[in-house]
Amino acid sequence: MRVGIEEDLETRADIAVRGVRVDAPVQRSKGAGPSDDGHLVVDGANATLPLNPESPYVVQDGRIFRETIDLGLSVTPVGRPRFYDLSTTDGVPYRKIALLHGKDVLATTVVQTCIRYAEDQRCRFCTIEESLRSGATVAAKTPQQLAEVAEAAVRLDGVRQMVMTTGTTSGPDRGARHLVRCVRAVLEAVPGLPIQVQIEPPGDLGVLQDLRDAGATSIGIHVESLDDDVRRRWMPGKSTVPMAEYEAAWAEAVRVFGRNRVSTYLLIGLGEDPDALVEGAGRLIDLGVYPFAVPMRPMVGTLARRDGATAPSPALVADVTGRIAALLRAAGMTGADQGAGCAACGACGLLSAAGG
Ligand code: SF4
Repeated sequence: MRVGIEEDLETRADIAVRGVRVDAPVQRSKGAGPSDDGHLVVDGANATLPLNPESPYVVQDGRIFRETIDLGLSVTPVGRPRFYDLSTTDGVPYRKIALLHGKDVLATTVVQTCIRYAEDQRCRFCTIEESLRSGATVAAKTPQQLAEVAEAAVRLDGVRQMVMTTGTTSGPDRGARHLVRCVRAVLEAVPGLPIQVQIEPPGDLGVLQDLRDAGATSIGIHVESLDDDVRRRWMPGKSTVPMAEYEAAWAEAVRVFGRNRVSTYLLIGLGEDPDALVEGAGRLIDLGVYPFAVPMRPMVGTLARRDGATAPSPALVADVTGRIAALLRAAGMTGADQGAGCAACGACGLLSAAGG
């Protein structure tokens, strides 16, 4: 028997924070952004969940149990994709170029370094350069390498969309120009593949049109928090980009890509006032920007983890997620309608499970 949507959301929030005991062949550990974890399919939808041997939740026979109680959620770990066994013509293993996220998303960080990675500048939840140091990836991916991997991932493993993010580079475009070349090359190899690009607000907003003209379906311009005090504490380097630059970039991106083809991450658990967070999400929705609210889970290797930060309470995650999902529903916006990207994938948050 399935529980109601609110109880369901609370249970899912608890699982998202405490994690599960399961053997997941596809895992993400270290890299850009705020989450790692094992890749699973829960009730048909992508979900990244912390793999935690201490968790009260366990996966058995394709279902999640708490102690002996069957929660009524089907679970399938994502299988190791076939493209992981291949290497590029210039000898780089495909899995150092791009990774499978969920069951059908190909994700890459095209430039794996960030000008903001000095310890007093970097985002405290991010480990973009740790995966480089560990040898799991290469510093810069060429458009040709990405095209080769995308073609194989679509052909062999049923990939349906691609996410391209980048560390921030020192040029005024903050990395966007390289993304233009990467999108073009991938779409030449795989015409029609939905691609989301993720960038900081570029100095020259004209590059947004160039990204759209190259064929990108959607764009993420990720602020993570709308509260300047929280931004300064958690993202000392990135918070030097004024909110006004984000607002201008979102507005131009909506003009170029369309309503609900633009998104931003909002992290739950950085100490922001929950009402202010939900109100801010409402303002983004009014602009046509999808606020992809996800719980901050401090990954191994982050400054947050080193300094003892903990994930938010499941009750807070459920409350904020439920309220933002209601605003999205009222505006007729769903993550799926982004066409490509994190909001369309939905795995790192609970909004899609909550009907957003
Ligand atoms: S939400 Fe984004 S980061 Fe998370 S699994 Fe999906 S594509 Fe990857």
